Amino acid sequence: MSKSSRSEPKESSDSEPLPIYHHKSKLVRAVKDSTFLVVTGETGCGKTTQLPQYLHEAGFSKRGKIGVTQPRRVAAITVAQRVAQEMRYTLGKEVGYQVRFDDCTSEDTQVKYMTDGCLLREVLADPGLSQYSVVILDEVHERSLNTVVVMSATMETEKLSAFLGNCPVFVIPGRTFPVKCSFGSAVGPKETESTGYVKEVVKVALDVHTSEMSGDILVFLTGQNEIERACDMLYEKAETIDYRFDVHDQTVEGLLILPLYGSMPTDQQRQIFQPPPRGIRKCVVATNIAATSLTINGIKYIIDSGFVKQLNHNSRVGLDILEVVPISKSEAQQRAGRAGRTSAGKCFRIYNTEFWEKCMPEYTVPEIQRTSLTAVVLTLKCLGVHDVIRFPYLDSPEERFILEALKQLYQFDAIDRRGKVTKLGELMVEFPLHPGLTRAVLKAASYGCADLMLPVAAMLSVENIFIRPGHPEKQKEADQRHRALASKSGGMNDFATLLSIFQLCRSSEKPSAWCKENWIHWRALKSAFSVETQLREILNRLQQRSDFPVESFNGNKNELFRRCLCAGYFTNVARRSIGKSFCTMDGHGSMVHIHPSSALFENEKDLDWVMFHDVLVTSKVYVRTVCPIRYGWVKDLLPKLHEVDVYELSNVAREEVTEEEMTKWENKEAAKRQQEASAEEA
Ligand code: ADP
Ligand code: MG
Repeated sequence: MSKSSRSEPKESSDSEPLPIYHHKSKLVRAVKDSTFLVVTGETGCGKTTQLPQYLHEAGFSKRGKIGVTQPRRVAAITVAQRVAQEMRYTLGKEVGYQVRFDDCTSEDTQVKYMTDGCLLREVLADPGLSQYSVVILDEVHERSLNTVVVMSATMETEKLSAFLGNCPVFVIPGRTFPVKCSFGSAVGPKETESTGYVKEVVKVALDVHTSEMSGDILVFLTGQNEIERACDMLYEKAETIDYRFDVHDQTVEGLLILPLYGSMPTDQQRQIFQPPPRGIRKCVVATNIAATSLTINGIKYIIDSGFVKQLNHNSRVGLDILEVVPISKSEAQQRAGRAGRTSAGKCFRIYNTEFWEKCMPEYTVPEIQRTSLTAVVLTLKCLGVHDVIRFPYLDSPEERFILEALKQLYQFDAIDRRGKVTKLGELMVEFPLHPGLTRAVLKAASYGCADLMLPVAAMLSVENIFIRPGHPEKQKEADQRHRALASKSGGMNDFATLLSIFQLCRSSEKPSAWCKENWIHWRALKSAFSVETQLREILNRLQQRSDFPVESFNGNKNELFRRCLCAGYFTNVARRSIGKSFCTMDGHGSMVHIHPSSALFENEKDLDWVMFHDVLVTSKVYVRTVCPIRYGWVKDLLPKLHEVDVYELSNVAREEVTEEEMTKWENKEAAKRQQEASAEEA
């Protein structure tokens, strides 16, 4: 404790104390005086990094941990590092973080940053969160799915509504400086291809660098691939600048280009916050993470692509799809505001006013209202919430999404017809994976071949394994390598390719060199190794249970592997249709095409049935990570997709159903099936 009781203010780079500092004692008082408290203040005023320290100093840690949630893992990690450094503690000791697949805490941890998903798992095990003296749910305005559920689950219904009605609000006054925004002309309502706007932001960034006065640049793009591409282009172009003639501000003598995205190595992340060397202008190319979660000092210029990558539920395809979509107007304002924290700034929007008017919604729709609720509904059910429809969500999702989740859980055998969690459901909720993938893992485990499925689950849980170089020649070489890897595993099964990459890399003498040679992201593989270990630990723990299912199979391994995948992916099955297209069997009957990155692409002529991991929508609807299956393997599973009537399930969801009602319903179902059968015969 002695270490942390320093009273000097935490300073930002311009050596003004952070706005929150002047409200320290009042803020601590307010937290002590109220059960629930809302704290608001400008981004960068010190809420995330300072408030937990104030509470720690005030003695909160004596009664339990101080927990702080973040919707995104990179924010949780970065902020914990920063706070440990400010408090002069070793990260992982007094100050730690926990994110999915990475726990950096110990018994001594008093201030714990974590993703909201991790807290949700803790709520499952200990609904009262008894280890904590205080929990700070950060970035609640974003209303990420897990935050909303944690909130809803940890507060009783009455309290929650009282909270929403009249909870005290602490406002940290802040000052912002004007930001002059301008619109571009390159991106209009028709723009969807990322190549266009990536090129444009690079062009604008270089213009700013050469024609504007000193001050750092922050560029907003949507994801790792784009960011790496933009950085490559920037490096290349920046090299050609002649600083004697080309730049307007003669104190500017160089450009430091830094990427910032979720799965970046942490040592690189640290650089982002450091002031650049004298005379050097810093240019950070970031995802939306830099809009609210992380504040970089010294930013004077914003370049806004106008797009963000977002998980959206696509009801046409019936799946969650990671899509690049236009940001909302409020998001655009938030992005611009990042240039005006310490002095006046400028924001260059590369899109035109027509794009602003026609394509950008006023506000961002909360995650809970736009993504699949399957995992959340299962979590709620395991928490003992039976009526998931009338549950007091902060932002109620559409009822049809809840129904779809119930239907999926029923299809995966996680709940029964009465909406009660099954034994399998209790096992499934333990895995931080999509329920389908969990189902495949459990199926494989029951056949004693988890060794095949755990690596696949791990590989599908990490980001982007394959390197896609920007240079066309190098791209050719990478493609060749990737094709060679695919043929090593038989050539016609993308899941098996993932497994084989995992195994080959792990057994190679120098895994990092192996990756380089094969154009594979070594970092991604390293995380896959770690994820696999953790999944294995969870599985080992569950297999101790006496009721863990055991089944046997006497066929070949290849078939068993694909059959196990089918147990989780029978919702993602498609049958050959006209030309090169396939038709999904989930009741939506969407036309899909095999993505060019698949080993099955251009070999699709002999295929009849396929199963896929995910969907990508561009000009066409593509399926990625594909493998051929036989109809026989899913024959018994497919009827499950249509068996339950959503309407029936909704009644089941609303109230506990009596035995009698259940029998009545089952009889009705049986009669219906018999009718269908006889109709078929006739
Ligand atoms: P808020 O949560 O209110 O948006 P933060 O607590 O995140 O604000 O940030 C407060 C200040 O701490 C900002 O000036 C930010 O630049 C600085 N800061 C946060 N993280 C780091 C870091 N890793 N390195 C350096 N400075 C940081
Ligand atoms: Mg914050």
